[in-house]
Amino acid sequence: MHLTIRARLTLLYFVVLAASFVAFFWICDFGFRRSIEITVNDASRSNLETVRRVIDGSLPRGIPKVQKELSELAGLWANGAIFEVAGPDGQSIFRPKRFQALQAPLPEVPAQGISFLTTNLEALQYRIARERVVIGGGVFLIDAAVPTEPFDQALDGFRLTEKRFLPLLVVLASLLGYWLSGRALAPVNRIVESAESIGVQNLSRRLEVPRAKDELRRLTETLNAMLGRIESSVAHITQFTADASHDLRTPLALIRTNAELALRRHRREEEYRETLRRILAAAEESTQLIEQLLTLARADAGAAQLRFETADLSQVLYKASQHARILAQAKGLEFSEEIDCEPFPVSLDSSAMERLLLALLDNAVKYTPGGSVTLRAYLCEGQAIVEVQDTGVGICQTDLPHIFDRFYRADQTRSREVRGSGLGLAIARWIAEMHKGTIEVESELGHGSLFRIRLLLLNEETFDVRASEGQTTTANSAV
Ligand code: ADP
Repeated sequence: MHLTIRARLTLLYFVVLAASFVAFFWICDFGFRRSIEITVNDASRSNLETVRRVIDGSLPRGIPKVQKELSELAGLWANGAIFEVAGPDGQSIFRPKRFQALQAPLPEVPAQGISFLTTNLEALQYRIARERVVIGGGVFLIDAAVPTEPFDQALDGFRLTEKRFLPLLVVLASLLGYWLSGRALAPVNRIVESAESIGVQNLSRRLEVPRAKDELRRLTETLNAMLGRIESSVAHITQFTADASHDLRTPLALIRTNAELALRRHRREEEYRETLRRILAAAEESTQLIEQLLTLARADAGAAQLRFETADLSQVLYKASQHARILAQAKGLEFSEEIDCEPFPVSLDSSAMERLLLALLDNAVKYTPGGSVTLRAYLCEGQAIVEVQDTGVGICQTDLPHIFDRFYRADQTRSREVRGSGLGLAIARWIAEMHKGTIEVESELGHGSLFRIRLLLLNEETFDVRASEGQTTTANSAV
């Protein structure tokens, strides 16, 4: 059964109040009964004392005088209280008719003190106090009875009130609870209404923050902060989509224009070949861009899987170095490698690490119009350090903090029309982070750049054991 919070709160009020009222009335009832018992006992005890005094005063003048005085006393008691007295020889001295209707035998009386009993005499309930007293050398047994009816009536009256008002009180209090919980939950309804009105089109809207410094205010502020994060993520995604579409359009437009121009009139075979070469280059560029976008999308979704194994980084370094040498030579650049002749035991995904190194080396060659490119690797304080240094165009200080952002391309390189997507370094940073490493850059405009990767070295025993066992682990990515 699905109940609203308001209904649940009201039900809770109802149960708690009903239980409290029942407990309260039960305690009152118990206290009332107890105080009635004490009052009735006191009354019968005091009557017993009066009878004792009368016997004491009249006994010297003989038993008939005692009987006379006692019947006068009985006539004076108007509230229905009665008594009986038995003399020293067990003979009844004074016994009103009603006592003859005694249904149960009175209990044995202790040698000292008073005993009490509640019983019926002619259909009326009495509280009887009985005492054995010694007067003038003789033992008298006195029973003083007080009717309990007036007290019972008061108790019945209380119980009747209880029965009438208890349900009423519980219902009234529950209604009050319903109203109160409605008031307490009103801000929640307002939050729900304004949250429902927020969509992708108006993500800049925020929920109204309640004035009271309570949990709802905290909830609203938290939701607003979350909306802020969602807004910036959506803006990021929108920008990313716009940049990606823009960058994809350029090679596609190139393919189209080249094809259209070629078809406009008949051309020589060499011209067709040149056009096809340009089309192929543009197609390769868009394929590379799509592949980079896919890598980042997989990384964002946490779906890109890297397979880590314990290996020597130098192998990957030499492979990347061979590739970079060819690129550098093709552009007439000097290329040198300074790789320490020691093992570089690290946990790595070889193909991802190669991709990272190639991205840096490719950039170094791309952004160096003339000069040299160096690949350096050494061990330092438990880390494997890899540096890619060039003497190229460099990066200005305002661009430096952004070059690892997606689609970011420094202005001066754009203007020189070096082709690129601005995604290479974003992927490079992701790969470094997946290896629990870092990537940093030092650069000065016009004086070249230095990219540095730091990777954690495995200690040699771990390396030996894991290498001999050929251990591999996989990691899901999330950038
Ligand atoms: P791109 O495809 O544009 O090279 P990257 O993400 O690889 O994208 O690089 C981002 C930007 O960083 C480049 O556009 C360029 O401005 C700058 N950059 C990267 N490497 C170098 C470098 N070695 N020298 C100068 N600028 C560089």
